[in-house]
Amino acid sequence: MVTNFHYLDPAQEFNVSIFMSPTGTDSQIIDNRNLSAKTDSYTFTPDGKPTGATINITWLTWRSTDYGRPFINTTPNVGGGWYLDPNPHDLTDFEDTFTSPPNKQTNAFVGLTTNGTDHGNYLDLYSTVVHELCHALGLNATSPLFKAAAHLVDGNPADMQNLDPMGNSTGNYWAVETANVHALFTSSDTFADAGGPAHFAEPGAVATYNGRTYLGANALMNSRDVLNGRKLIDDTLALILHDVYGFDVNLPSSIANFYDTLDADGTLRIDLTSLGGSDDLVTLSASNGFVRVQINLGDGIPGIDPAQSTNHSPSAM
Ligand SMILES: [Zn+2]
Repeated sequence: MVTNFHYLDPAQEFNVSIFMSPTGTDSQIIDNRNLSAKTDSYTFTPDGKPTGATINITWLTWRSTDYGRPFINTTPNVGGGWYLDPNPHDLTDFEDTFTSPPNKQTNAFVGLTTNGTDHGNYLDLYSTVVHELCHALGLNATSPLFKAAAHLVDGNPADMQNLDPMGNSTGNYWAVETANVHALFTSSDTFADAGGPAHFAEPGAVATYNGRTYLGANALMNSRDVLNGRKLIDDTLALILHDVYGFDVNLPSSIANFYDTLDADGTLRIDLTSLGGSDDLVTLSASNGFVRVQINLGDGIPGIDPAQSTNHSPSAM
């Protein structure tokens, strides 16, 4: 997605170290979703561009349903509570449509799964790693440049999706305003207030800043991972990285989105049924061995869907 960091020093590299915890977490009490991943040790250039970070990911030794006896899961592609996608660029497994409850709304960048399948029972490691990589790329409360582009939204109710175990709110909304983006973030991070824009606000979040209304949505950078499904980098995140840090980016919707997907067998699926009565315009054209799909959404998911997306799939002809 990032094609050029435009570092002042051309020799500057972007380095991320990813570690899996050496010991698993005992998941005896809650359920098999008690997993975590965390990014820290951020580094920046003198002019404030991110140059790397360290990512730590946990895994589980037990599943609640099996507590009391050793549990060895021999199912392929699941382990330690994670779903390990053998084919991460084939989105076929994540094309189910959920229409309720509203916080399970799918959109161009969030796809869900069928309960009972491996990827429906376990959290998607791919989505989690990409979430953490986006923190490393600069979408974190530690970055002075990102924080400078965001504004604390005063006088709004706190993020009700991120209450601590005592029912207290744990963060504030931050309006991120850049040349191309007006997005709602929250400072909630692992049931604490990170003091800056750390995560994308949850679905249902509404805040007003400078006369503009900002909306949360299901998204890769939500604070809590409560959905078993695939979350992709969305256009908003890429445009923030472009506007705040001067990175060259390709729009993620042009690379992959759930409204038009290319299955592993070459089938191109265009599916806008999850949008209900939205008047959408789909334009198909073909040239030089590629099919070009342009989608203009009449009534996309607020806060996350792009008004227009365009991508090119190899044609089978
Ligand atoms: Zn996070």
